[in-house]
Amino acid sequence: MKDYKFWFCTGSQDLYGDECLRKVAEHSAKIVEALNASGNLPFEVVLMPTLISQASIRKTFNDANNDDACAGVITWMHTFSPAKMWILGLKEFRKPLCHLHTQFNEEIPYATIDMDFMNENQSAHGDREYGHIVSRMGIERKIIVGHWAGESVQRQLGSWMRTAVGVIESSHIRVCRFGDNMNNVAVTEGDKVEAQIKFGWEIDHYCVNDLVDYVDAVPEGAVNALVDEYYDKYKIIDEGRDPEEFRKHVAVQAQQEIGIEKFLVDNNYHAIVTHFGMLGGLKQLPGLSIQRLMEKGYGFGAEGDWKVAAMVRMMKLMTADIKGAKGTSMMEDYTYNLVPGEEGILQAHMLEVCPSVADGDIGIKVCPLSMGNREDPARLVFTSKTGPAVACSLVDLGTRFRLIINVVDCKKVKEPMPKLPVGTAFWTPRPNLEVGAAAWILAGGAHHTAFSYDLTAGQMTDWADAMGIESVVIDEKTDIRTFKNELKWNEAAYK
Ligand code: MN
Repeated sequence: MKDYKFWFCTGSQDLYGDECLRKVAEHSAKIVEALNASGNLPFEVVLMPTLISQASIRKTFNDANNDDACAGVITWMHTFSPAKMWILGLKEFRKPLCHLHTQFNEEIPYATIDMDFMNENQSAHGDREYGHIVSRMGIERKIIVGHWAGESVQRQLGSWMRTAVGVIESSHIRVCRFGDNMNNVAVTEGDKVEAQIKFGWEIDHYCVNDLVDYVDAVPEGAVNALVDEYYDKYKIIDEGRDPEEFRKHVAVQAQQEIGIEKFLVDNNYHAIVTHFGMLGGLKQLPGLSIQRLMEKGYGFGAEGDWKVAAMVRMMKLMTADIKGAKGTSMMEDYTYNLVPGEEGILQAHMLEVCPSVADGDIGIKVCPLSMGNREDPARLVFTSKTGPAVACSLVDLGTRFRLIINVVDCKKVKEPMPKLPVGTAFWTPRPNLEVGAAAWILAGGAHHTAFSYDLTAGQMTDWADAMGIESVVIDEKTDIRTFKNELKWNEAAYK
């Protein structure tokens, strides 16, 4: 993860005289200083010289394009800045754009206000001129309205920064597939060429035995050291299995964790896809190993699901270093609880749920898989945190991608599930299971999701907008009739 910066560009013009422009620059500096000191922004804001000419605007946007550390530009018109000056710069700009519609003073200075003050503090006026040209040019941007010192504005800016990093980082994601998508499955398929055009993802394919060579080459000492670490960190739930045999099964996953990570690092991949039906010389389906790699920040998709793998990676980058983060993982809709008043969906996978979402103790179990023909894999088992979260499904509709975002409320299940040997979560989709599940199915949402407690539906729709794809949100406001109409209108809008 890079140490990204965001450029703060204040617009004005040269009609106001030096004294006014000096104040504009002074105010901008104060705002940037306060934003950086607020603790509400995950990345630093860097003040640029006030932009008063077409040439300087064009040069600044191109410099931003060419600076790898710049993840986006925040614009604000302190005074009036004739917007035709902005056309060429905006046209050439290729990074996330935010329009911070703010004003230096919070309150009208009733006793002293005169026309000089009005002319100096007219973002209500200048930001409309600027916003008009951005809209006319059809350029995607985030608009945040309010006083810059307010916590709500700062938090919105902070969460947009994370979305912007998702947009920038998306084009660096490289997904490594070991095995193709599972035969006959529709929803994990998709157009990899279009995904690279839209999202920038590089999606490659290797024979699983290329990976086996890496796993087999891991020295025994390294494996034993990692197994010791597992035994220190996790609760061993051997359920009467022979302790030595249990440890040998765990060691297979430790060897995989080291071998897979080395393969990913050597070949510069950030996300990985496996398939339980294509394991080549692997002794076990990667379970614990994949869970640990996801926790380290790698993306993952099961059964060849490269869309989920890339989304999980991207969402892990968007949430990197959040204080008190609750976790991000691949998930799968598995089983319902349909008891009236307790409706929800039990989430899990065969093995691969990221322990970043775990609540409380994490255990290791070794159990048979009901599918495939390998030895019993070791896996981490846990239940997940409570609270609101987003579950996202990116689907390929043949002519375009659609991102489906459901706001869900994670809960504890009523009773323990001692015989279920996987990491789980349990949630009720908003607005409720009946409407939420119906809307999800109408939108064509998959059973695999990229899930996070640490992102909002707004951040995900902003990301989709920046990528130029359709997104739909299922939340507390969703009703089926309106939702069906929205899907119909989108059909026309995204043709
Ligand atoms: Mn699956």
